[in-house]
Amino acid sequence: LGSLEFQPEPTIIKLPHTTIGAGHFVMMAGPCSVESEDHVRRMAKVAKQGGATVLRGGAFKPRTVPYSFQGLEEDGLRFLREAADAEGMDVITEVMDVPHVEMVGKYTDIFQIGARNMQNFSLLKAVGKTKIAVGLKRGMSATIDDLLNAAEYIRANGNPNVFLIERGIRTFDNKYTRNTFDLAAIPVLKKLTHYPIIADPSHAVGVTDLVTPMAVAAAAAGCDGEIVEIHDDPAHAFSDGPQALTPDLYLDMTKKVNAVRKAL
Ligand code: PEP
Ligand code: MN
Repeated sequence: LGSLEFQPEPTIIKLPHTTIGAGHFVMMAGPCSVESEDHVRRMAKVAKQGGATVLRGGAFKPRTVPYSFQGLEEDGLRFLREAADAEGMDVITEVMDVPHVEMVGKYTDIFQIGARNMQNFSLLKAVGKTKIAVGLKRGMSATIDDLLNAAEYIRANGNPNVFLIERGIRTFDNKYTRNTFDLAAIPVLKKLTHYPIIADPSHAVGVTDLVTPMAVAAAAAGCDGEIVEIHDDPAHAFSDGPQALTPDLYLDMTKKVNAVRKAL
């Protein structure tokens, strides 16, 4: 169902403030975690200023260490929704478990399926039974075909509103980058599938200084948009501070990405 033989035309996802796919470039930005009502509101303003039409923010966080901040849960979803509405933006947020699909769906325009859940087939089936758009992240040890088969679970259950997110994979070398950004996956996926491909340079590299060069490279590689993490005080971020773009760096990144897109 995801192949270009089955559907030669690109998938187009229409949200109130955003069109994803078919040549519409989309910027998604926001903090890794929703931290407070005030913080997410301020970050939404910054995101919008850089041209983002989708606000990201996690309210249920899949943390590697169980003692790390786990998210504000439903309060976080409400703060995120209100911040997006105040700026006229759409929302993307992670849903981690099947029992939360209905509740998260009340607040979001896009379900994010995290890398760690890419092959949580029960979760894929559950979001597949909704009509809410799904941003499916590539698992850190998943091949491109694994990613396409995971997308198939969503589509086969009735939801065609799927896009893919390349967020880096685990390789033998993670000393200088958190993951290895599989840049070639972008044009490869373009050849294989009609689903839009969004790049996540933040998780791919995990280091602030490297995010902008990879965001620019992803735009050059032909992605349909990007999702990036921003924070005004990275040292005190509740999660993923070391990869956050400050507002200035974010605005600079969006300028460079737009310049590359124009040059293509
Ligand atoms: C996130 O978007 O904050 C996140 C946890 O991403 P990933 O699933 O790609 O690690
Ligand atoms: Mn994050």
